[in-house]
Amino acid sequence: MRVLVLGGTAEARGLAAELDSAGDQVLSSLAGRVARPRLPFGEVRVGGFGGVDGLRTVAEQHDAVVDATHPFAAQISAHAAAACTQVPLLRLVRPGWSEEPSWLRVTTHADAALMAARLGQAPFLTIGRQSLHEFVGPLAEHQVLARVVDAPEIAVPPSWQVLLDRGPYVVQDEVALMRSHHVDVLVTKDSGGAYTRAKLQAAAALDLPVVVVRRPPVQPGVSTVADVAGAVEWLRSLP
Ligand code: NAP
Repeated sequence: MRVLVLGGTAEARGLAAELDSAGDQVLSSLAGRVARPRLPFGEVRVGGFGGVDGLRTVAEQHDAVVDATHPFAAQISAHAAAACTQVPLLRLVRPGWSEEPSWLRVTTHADAALMAARLGQAPFLTIGRQSLHEFVGPLAEHQVLARVVDAPEIAVPPSWQVLLDRGPYVVQDEVALMRSHHVDVLVTKDSGGAYTRAKLQAAAALDLPVVVVRRPPVQPGVSTVADVAGAVEWLRSLP
């Protein structure tokens, strides 16, 4: 089979590896946001498609498309749904974290910023580089610890500390990090998965408030699976 995998996640790499080892022809597509991406097995292309029409052209050279992008990568998922009218499309998206009753859930990063500003003096931001600008205004005077994979493109306030790092993380280290920075509120988005879950356990251990940005809505009418095995099963069931 020729499969186009829209990637940038561990699940996308897992699927590419499975398909590659099964002898399928897989093309993984990355947006090109990260300086040193973890590369999947098989063929890889990097960069946007130039919108829906560009994606449709590439999609239609394949037998199926699996949108395995990050749960918060809403635009590319919408483009995939619009582009894949002639080729089967599957959404592979890991489940969100199981909710704790104590979590403060918000719909936008802007709301998360306002809530963090009210709740603490030293927020720990783990919301990704692309959303960081939304926190600058409300948290300009706070002692922010912001953890991102690549350095932010924006200038951050002098009271902020930017930590460049990439998961997976373990609870013990997360507790030590939060303690050493006197973190008093954790801000995250509901990415789900095991790579970055330790921060939630650490925040619970330290009895810190946790602000969680909800996921954007899923594309209606697109078949969805939660893991690589489900995606492989779906692909094998295609006529
Ligand atoms: P987005 O806002 O949904 O997409 C913006 C544009 O980036 C798309 O319109 C498309 O450009 C291009 N693009 C996105 N993903 C692409 C892919 N896999 N292959 C080719 N082009 C892609 O996406 P985003 O939030 O910037 O995320 C970019 C990538 O990083 C995704 O692939 C995602 O899996 C990964 N990622 C995102 C997050 C996050 O929190 N958003 C976290 C971890 C990893 P054109 O319109 O030109 O085609």
